[in-house]
Amino acid sequence: MNILLIGSGGREHALAWKITQSPLCDTLWCTPGNAGIAEVCECVPLNTADHAAVIDFCRTNAVGLVVVGPEQPLVEGLVDALTAAGIKAFGPTAKAAQLEGSKGFTKDLCKRAGIPTAAYERFTDAGTAKAYAAARGLPIVIKADGLAAGKGVIIAETREDADAAIEDMFSGSFGAAGAEVVIEAFLTGEEASFFALVDGKTALPLASAQDHKRVGDGDTGPNTGGMGAYSPAPVLTPELEAQVMREIVQPTVNTMAADGIPYVGVLYAGLMLTETGPQLIEYNARFGDPECQVLMLRMKSDIVPVLLAAVDGGLEHVGIQWHDAPALTLVMAAEGYPGTPKKGTVIEGVETAAGEGVVVFHAGTTRDNDGRLIANGGRVLNVTATGPTVREARDRAYAAAEKIRWPEGFYRSDIGWRAIKREEQ
Ligand code: ATP
Repeated sequence: MNILLIGSGGREHALAWKITQSPLCDTLWCTPGNAGIAEVCECVPLNTADHAAVIDFCRTNAVGLVVVGPEQPLVEGLVDALTAAGIKAFGPTAKAAQLEGSKGFTKDLCKRAGIPTAAYERFTDAGTAKAYAAARGLPIVIKADGLAAGKGVIIAETREDADAAIEDMFSGSFGAAGAEVVIEAFLTGEEASFFALVDGKTALPLASAQDHKRVGDGDTGPNTGGMGAYSPAPVLTPELEAQVMREIVQPTVNTMAADGIPYVGVLYAGLMLTETGPQLIEYNARFGDPECQVLMLRMKSDIVPVLLAAVDGGLEHVGIQWHDAPALTLVMAAEGYPGTPKKGTVIEGVETAAGEGVVVFHAGTTRDNDGRLIANGGRVLNVTATGPTVREARDRAYAAAEKIRWPEGFYRSDIGWRAIKREEQ
C-alpha cells in the first residue's frame, strides 16, 4: 500500500520511521517533511490547505492511506475532503477535531457525559467574564476557546491578572481563537497524558506519557511545545489508566458517536491527577509531539494495520504489543527558542549519536546545497532512547546528545526527573 504522511516535525519523523518498517507499506511520501524524514522516504511539497491538490496527488500515486500528523489540517477538514473523495485518511473530521479546536465544545461535552473536569463557564464578552472571575476563588484559569499553540491559557493568581488576561483575549490578539473565552477552576495535582486510538466507537488504550512544557530546568521559564517526554508515566498506574478509559475516554467516544460526530484517530487526553481522581484538562486530536517519538519506539506491533483498523472501524479486533522498556526523548532546540530561534546554523555528528537503543528524530532541520544539516526551526532534534529503566533511557539519550556538535543548540538537563524520582523511591 502507498501511504502519504502529512507534517514536518519530530512526530512525523517517528511515524515515518515506524510506518516504513511495515511490510504493508510499499511507498511512503511525506509532505512537507524535513531532512530526517527525507532519509526514510520521499518528501514532496504539497499545500495541505489545498485539499484538491492533496486529493490529486493521492490519485496520481495510488495512495491507499493518508496519515495526518498535526492539528491544523484536521481542523481545516482535510480528512473530510479525502474521505469524500474515497481516500482513506487517519484522523478526525473537522467537526470531531473540535475536541481539540474548541475548549468550550469539549467542556460542554464533558458536562453532558459526566466526565470529570474543572468547573467552568463560557463567555463571549469581557464584562460578564470579569464578573464571573471576580466571584470565584484564586488562582483561576482563563483560556481562549480556539487553537493558540499553547499560549492561550493563563493561570491568574490575582484579580488584576485575571482581568488583564480576559481583556487581552477579547482584544483580538488571539484572532478568532479568542472570540470566546472559557474560565475554569484551578486543579491541583500531577499532570500526565494518556493516548487512545479510536475508530468511531471502540477506544483502544495506547500508553501514558509525561512531557516537560517549560523551557528551563526545574520546569522554569516560558512554555514551549515540549522539551522532552517519556513513556510510560509511572504515576499513571494500570488502575488509574483503567479509570481514565472508563470515566473519560470511553464516555467521550460514546457521546461523540451519539451526537453523530464519530471520532476517528488518536485521542490524546491531558489529565490532572487530583486527590479525587483523574480530571480531563484538555483533549488533543492527534499524537503529541514529542510524546509520539517515545510511543513509536515502544510500539512492538506493526502500526499500519492498526491505523487502517481505526479508519475502517475494526479496532475491537486489534491488539497492540509494546516493548516493556520505557523510552525517553530529549528535545534539542535552537538558541532563542521559544522566542525567535536562530536558524541556519550547522549541526554535525547526528549519525554518530544514533546507535543501540537510540534514534535521533529530526524536527526543524533541512540540508544546504553542500548536504550539511542545518537548523531550520525552534525544536530541531529529538534524541530518543529506550532502556530498562527511565534513568537508563535518560542516560543513553544524554550520552547520545553529547555526540552532536551544535554550539547554537541547547537542551534541558533534567528530562525524566519525575519518573526517575519515582523509580528511586
Ligand atoms: P497546550 O497546547 O500547551 O497543551 P493548550 O493551549 O491546549 O495547551 P491546556 O492544555 O488546556 O491548553 O492548558 C495548558 C496548561 O495549563 C496545562 O498543561 C496545565 O498545566 C495548565 N492548566 C490548564 N487548565 C488548568 C486547570 N484547570 N487547572 C490547573 N492547571 C491548568
